[in-house]
Amino acid sequence: MGEERKIALITGGSRGIGFSCAKELAHAGVDIIINDICDAEKAQPAIDEIKSIGVNAWFYQFDVSNAEQVQASVDKMIEDHGHIDILLNNAGITKDGLFVRMKPEQWEQVIKINLGSAYYVTHAVIKYMMKARHGSIINMSSIVGVHGNAGQANYSASKAGLIGLTKTLAKEYGNRNIRVNAVCPGFIQTAMTAELGNTAEYQKAIPMGRLGTPEDIAKVVKFLALDTDYVTGQAIEVAGGLML
Ligand code: NAP
Repeated sequence: MGEERKIALITGGSRGIGFSCAKELAHAGVDIIINDICDAEKAQPAIDEIKSIGVNAWFYQFDVSNAEQVQASVDKMIEDHGHIDILLNNAGITKDGLFVRMKPEQWEQVIKINLGSAYYVTHAVIKYMMKARHGSIINMSSIVGVHGNAGQANYSASKAGLIGLTKTLAKEYGNRNIRVNAVCPGFIQTAMTAELGNTAEYQKAIPMGRLGTPEDIAKVVKFLALDTDYVTGQAIEVAGGLML
């Protein structure tokens, strides 16, 4: 009998960066659990594509910012599949605006979905990783969490919070063989950045002269998840040199 395959849980994984990470891990032989807030029908093409790579893929619909839904769903995943070896906290939103005009709901929603979710999901998953005495947790932060960005006070605060969480959990759980890292993408071509319209100006600011692709991020996620056993507590910028 071959070795049991690893299982990765990817939040917000039915499209964009999360879906690319799912495919990259699937190509490395990892079974994939995709979470998203959308219904199962909408996520089915993503599940089918991952299965066509030759691994198992399952979908769990829940809102990452709802503590009860998260706990019940993670418990069900463990009941169904036995273990979660890799957790990618990827689901995220933007509600941009200048700080003085930012409504409390705008602030609270972004903090809750981008940062609160990492608490809820990690809190539910890490106790199983502690029992298994291994795990890799990756938080999808952003370069604006390191450097700030005008018009994104809520978003950059949430992404900076993820880096603090990453470093703290790396310190608390390293001795249980659980590594915790953050990836900080720059401008990546997804639905999230399509809202920005013409990207020519942004490209000029990027030393590598192009926006990133979801695959650029997925390669680093795969490295952190599978190719290293000794990198922990890091926030790795994957931004083509933007903000250097
Ligand atoms: P995206 O295409 O908008 O994908 C985000 C995914 O998260 C969507 O599938 C979305 O579902 C899901 N989601 C949103 N709220 C959720 C919730 N409450 N519960 C469960 N799932 C939820 O975004 P992306 O560009 O791939 O971004 C992925 C991550 O990378 C985010 O954390 C983002 O902040 C970060 N990031 C992106 C960039 C960039 O340039 N694109 C740069 C830096 C960091 P629905 O579509 O159904 O709403």
